[in-house]
Amino acid sequence: MSAVEIETKEAGRDFIRDIVQADIDAGTVVWPVTRFPPEPNGYLHIGHAKSIALNFGVAEEFGGRCHLRFDDTNPTKEEQEYIDAIEYDLKWLGYDWGKHLYHASDYFEQLYKWAEHLIRHGFAYVDDQSPEEMRAARGTLIEPGRDSPYRGRSLSENLDLFHRMRAGEFPNGAKVLRAKIDMASPNINLRDPALYRILHATHPRTGDKWCIYPTYDFAHGQSDAIEGVTHSICTLEFEDHRPLYDWLIANLPVPSRPRQYEFARLNLTYTVMSKRFLKGLVDDSRVSGWDDPRMPTISGLRRRGVPAAAIRNFAKNVGVARANSTVDVAMFDHAVRDELNRTASRRMAVLRPLKVVITNDDPAMPREVEARNHPDDPNAGTRPLPFGREIYVERDDFMEDPPKNFYRLALGRTVRLRYAGLITCHDVVKDAGGNVTELRGTWHRESPDGTAPDGSKVRATIHWVSTTQSVAAEVRLYNPLFTRPDPGADGDLLADLNPASMEVTADARLEPSLTSDNEAATVQFERIGYFCRDPDSRPGHLVFNRTIGLRDSYARAQTKP
Ligand code: ATP
Ligand code: MG
Repeated sequence: MSAVEIETKEAGRDFIRDIVQADIDAGTVVWPVTRFPPEPNGYLHIGHAKSIALNFGVAEEFGGRCHLRFDDTNPTKEEQEYIDAIEYDLKWLGYDWGKHLYHASDYFEQLYKWAEHLIRHGFAYVDDQSPEEMRAARGTLIEPGRDSPYRGRSLSENLDLFHRMRAGEFPNGAKVLRAKIDMASPNINLRDPALYRILHATHPRTGDKWCIYPTYDFAHGQSDAIEGVTHSICTLEFEDHRPLYDWLIANLPVPSRPRQYEFARLNLTYTVMSKRFLKGLVDDSRVSGWDDPRMPTISGLRRRGVPAAAIRNFAKNVGVARANSTVDVAMFDHAVRDELNRTASRRMAVLRPLKVVITNDDPAMPREVEARNHPDDPNAGTRPLPFGREIYVERDDFMEDPPKNFYRLALGRTVRLRYAGLITCHDVVKDAGGNVTELRGTWHRESPDGTAPDGSKVRATIHWVSTTQSVAAEVRLYNPLFTRPDPGADGDLLADLNPASMEVTADARLEPSLTSDNEAATVQFERIGYFCRDPDSRPGHLVFNRTIGLRDSYARAQTKP
């Protein structure tokens, strides 16, 4: 690995930015023009966010611009729904392409003319071989390919056939326009790659105007050249396509000379980013849609309550390297917690309620307490929290037979109720089956020295809500979509889907302010985690999603012996 290949963690510095800086210093570019080129065949995911942050980031930092260009050259897979979703997600993430919105399909006429140009200069021919024959003749990494029997066609015959391809005279797959480069090239991408294929399909933008479509390789570099892109940044799997990219730019009368650079794509543990696979999950209803909160899509993360800033920060901080690697999803979780810890309002909610009845009649007992919205930010203000003789606490905060290190509720124990004094449990009520159904306790005002009435130190503070002045909610708890960090390592992705990726608690209780809070905001349920309201909520039926727990309880549970 050379020096530039080592991932630089230094703020904003990596080998791509070094290249851009060097080009500016050398005067070969005045400012960089980059592009983000999604194919509208699915929704954007967290991997795309890395490419977005890089392309938009480089443009902004060096005073250039970044285009949004839809790489819409395959109408059989592409849909308007995806185009709209991609634009929406990009804007939500906070990126702005200004007026520079483009589509490869805007260039179909120009690309067609350039294909004719290649034919006229003896650089392209129409091949009648079937896809199978072409594959068989392509050779391997160690064997050269074989020339097509149609490779020697005359310029005029090639032009005529190409025109007739466009005119719709041939069915799908009957003919292909290929570049005439070198069937013996050690780089298989240069063994007469396809430039145009016949596809009788309606395109979301050009409708039925075309029945031949350029390949990615033919469309991409030329689109870059048309737009004056200076640095065409893509992922490593396109490294072997670069000689073809350069060959086309060198042999066509294009208006500018873009250069392609490759970086390592983002891989995350417990995560699959293949759009084809994600679409399969959606199509087979294994998830509720592209925006299912378990999906690694931007729309899924948004619905789960992840703020755009957390995604941006993560995408910036993963760094840009030339070697493929896998990032621990814990790093993403950290970015989410980091952002939410600073920004999320604190609220009270009980996920698995256990009723507590206060039996004494202390005149000092408040009917309402004042709760801080953020422990570190006095400007976030306070809100009233109704208190009363009947409250719910978390079932997990009580134990009948507590071990030594359990300091929360148990018979005879005193705990602090967040904001609302102390309570000592003196009775445990059970049903016929022996299940605990209710606790009874005595309320005391907080003592200045933090001790219980019996003089013992109160070590635990628990959360609670009023029984009468709280609202019921369904809460959806999400766990990783896969059971292993390297899904599909045994060859079957579906076998590694986590059957417990969503748990639902149907009768959680929330403090009343959560019915009126700003719908989009993610809040912290104190002591539990971060949550946001799901769009499945209806009047009288609130649904909340867990964005993320306060700590990584899932991983800890998994590694327990
Ligand atoms: P898929 O193969 O799943 O369809 P793709 O890479 O073909 O994904 P595109 O829509 O073509 O999807 O991607 C748009 C841009 O985002 C490309 O420049 C691509 O290199 C980049 N990109 C896609 N996935 C990642 C990733 N995991 N990490 C970084 N960049 C990515
Ligand atoms: Mg692609």
